[in-house]
Amino acid sequence: MRRSDWRLLLGQRPDAGQAHALAAVEDWRELAPAAAQLRDVGWGRQLSYSRKVFVPLTQLCRDVCHYCTFAQSPRRLQAAYLQPEEVLEIARRGADAGCKEVLFTLGDKPELRYRAARQALQTLGFDSTLDYLAHVAGRVLRETGLLPHLNPGLLELKDYQKLRQVAPSMGIMLESSATRLCGRGGAHFGSPDKWPARRLACLQAAAEAGVPMTSGILVGIGETRAERIDALLALREVAAAGHVQEIIIQNFRAKPGTVMSGAAEPTMAELCWSIAAARCIFGPDMSIQAPPNLFAGDIRQLIDAGINDWGGISPVTQDHVNPEAPWPHLDQLRAQTEAAGCSLVERLTVYPRYVHERQRWIDPGLHKAVLRCSDSGGLARVGCWSPGALREADAHEASEMLAACVHTPTSSGSAVARALAGQALSEQQITRMFMARGEDLAQILSAADALRADQVGDRVSYVITRNINYTNVCSYKCGFCAFSKGRAHEDLRGKPYLVDRAEIQRRVREAWDRGATEVCMQGGIHPAFTGQTYLDLCTAAKAAAPEIHVHAFSPLEVAHGARTLGIDVAEFLQALRAAGLGSLPGTAAEILDDEVRAQIAPDKLSASQWLEIVGRAHQLGLPTTSTIMFGHVEHYGHWARHLLRLKQQQIETGGFTEFVPLPFVHMEAPMYLRGRARPGPSLRETVLMHAVARLVLAPHFHNIQVSWTKLGTRWAPYCLGAGVNDLGGTLMNESISRAAGASHGQELEPAAMEALIHAAGRVPWQRSTLYQAADPASRARAQQAPPLVEPINAPVAPGALRVA
Ligand code: SF4
Repeated sequence: MRRSDWRLLLGQRPDAGQAHALAAVEDWRELAPAAAQLRDVGWGRQLSYSRKVFVPLTQLCRDVCHYCTFAQSPRRLQAAYLQPEEVLEIARRGADAGCKEVLFTLGDKPELRYRAARQALQTLGFDSTLDYLAHVAGRVLRETGLLPHLNPGLLELKDYQKLRQVAPSMGIMLESSATRLCGRGGAHFGSPDKWPARRLACLQAAAEAGVPMTSGILVGIGETRAERIDALLALREVAAAGHVQEIIIQNFRAKPGTVMSGAAEPTMAELCWSIAAARCIFGPDMSIQAPPNLFAGDIRQLIDAGINDWGGISPVTQDHVNPEAPWPHLDQLRAQTEAAGCSLVERLTVYPRYVHERQRWIDPGLHKAVLRCSDSGGLARVGCWSPGALREADAHEASEMLAACVHTPTSSGSAVARALAGQALSEQQITRMFMARGEDLAQILSAADALRADQVGDRVSYVITRNINYTNVCSYKCGFCAFSKGRAHEDLRGKPYLVDRAEIQRRVREAWDRGATEVCMQGGIHPAFTGQTYLDLCTAAKAAAPEIHVHAFSPLEVAHGARTLGIDVAEFLQALRAAGLGSLPGTAAEILDDEVRAQIAPDKLSASQWLEIVGRAHQLGLPTTSTIMFGHVEHYGHWARHLLRLKQQQIETGGFTEFVPLPFVHMEAPMYLRGRARPGPSLRETVLMHAVARLVLAPHFHNIQVSWTKLGTRWAPYCLGAGVNDLGGTLMNESISRAAGASHGQELEPAAMEALIHAAGRVPWQRSTLYQAADPASRARAQQAPPLVEPINAPVAPGALRVA
């Protein structure tokens, strides 16, 4: 078959006849262009690996595969099984080295063959190897947070159902579908568990149990090319259930001391042919893996042949199945991967699709561990930085960001180039942008910075404002909110309070005297509040400082106010405006996707209700900001959809003054404490959100704001080089982020704001709420600002918390 014929197969999977025609393609390089293109469609130019430790729980096995040095007889081992403490010690070393996977490799049911295994299990207190495996894997999960991946050989449905409670993924290699290899003289002669039909039955049982699985073939154990294609087709058939997450194409190594020590090993060309054939047979979406430590050649050829994954690499333990072949150093693997024009990314033992669809594929008892070590793309969450936390970024994440902040020319034809040319980006293109790392990341940040300069120049604006959160009593139960106090939140940080009118007016006057041009007023949905409460708050603020801009009330508060007065939203907004409201904060948007809202704030506004309220405000001449709260349970597709919805709303009603990314502060958030959320976005994701927003929302949004309360003064300035032109407000009394555990202070005074902006090489500019030049008199007042008086938050009696 000619190369051009294979190009025709792009976008459609070959049938059995077409797949078998691959055997006649002598040179793998004939297949490589199609295979690499398929890989690029499915995985881009990212190669993944899993940072793991390797636990050989037992090297006893009832099989006698003729190439294997892992399995040993009892007399050659000091102990039949590793003790639980030995396993935990390995796992802890892995955790210290940043690993996220513990790979349990073990022989197949050795107790069926060896008395030593039966006796050891009895001493340990278990009936079977699988029972012991379930016990130690559970301890590793609970005591270290690392995710177990299990390779215990043949299992039945009930075994998968039991073990999935302690492991998000498992594996069983098919190796080959050629039954003749189980006959006399074959590699699997005498190994009852290697019968292909039994292994395929296991994969079917795993599908029924809903277990993400690894499988694959061994190349060069005596099979022909045609038999290898048969094996790949058999795997493709069983993988139709959606549970096979990766196919390993592993080359046979002739090991001293084995029956097959003298057998010829497959050539690099044959391995590459097998990889390319697998990619053509499985298409773009399947992960095709080849270990980088099992041959001496240039690993770039494996990339050219269509792989997207290197498998597990350990910085701590050796490859116990191939002890003669050390893992490459990760720095070396990264350099080689990058030299091939790809970037190296760390994944978990479960691939992103399964992390996103965890309700279906992962036992609920494992969600906490999976969420804590994944990012919103479903890959490993790299680094220890979290929004709002004082803990500094680790060396790797800091250097990744610093490298990405170097300006880079944009490659033509990319989504970035489309954005710069003013072309609309699809949800899929935006989702891909959020995956960017390495060179791609640098390009996006650089392009966003250039677009910012074109759109709004070098000024970085800020507003002197005061936050007034009049109550933290709330009848809603948003899972991310550590600020509110109500029946579901009573034991969280802080006491319930309600600020009275006199104190609100005192704070407004004090804010004005300290240079503020705006007060930002928001609070919980106190069950006693009605629309009249919000009208009274506006009137009170304006009476205290008539010229101050009142920026207040989330769309949720607006909905609540209108409902309690029995009027529609438009009528209520007009009344608020007449009472002195100048604009609304676009908070309560969270993620504009009802699938996510159902998880994090099920009793709140729907996405369309939120958009309808802000749209109505815009139509009535009340501008709003817009926000996204990201990095908890959602994925990049939700981020893309959110940006596109905001953009469409802006096209229709045009009243958004700015977009403000609000990275999720997890420390005190109820849904994080219950193990149902991630620890916020990573540093890469946080900075990238600002840049992608600039590219996607242009030309309809001019202002992208960074939240200094979430990023701190160390990382907020980096966002200024990633599309941001606004540092937000000085705040005076920030309390919502602080209730969630943020530690970056309550106020950033104008002089400190300006120093940050100057240090970033930009020009500070004090603005009004609506991005006009601020009254110079306010700056003069700010320069003579007296220290803030301690605010009084009047406590609410416990009985007053009862929500009707
Ligand atoms: Fe209440 Fe707002 Fe917190 Fe939700 S986010 S619980 S509505 S204060």
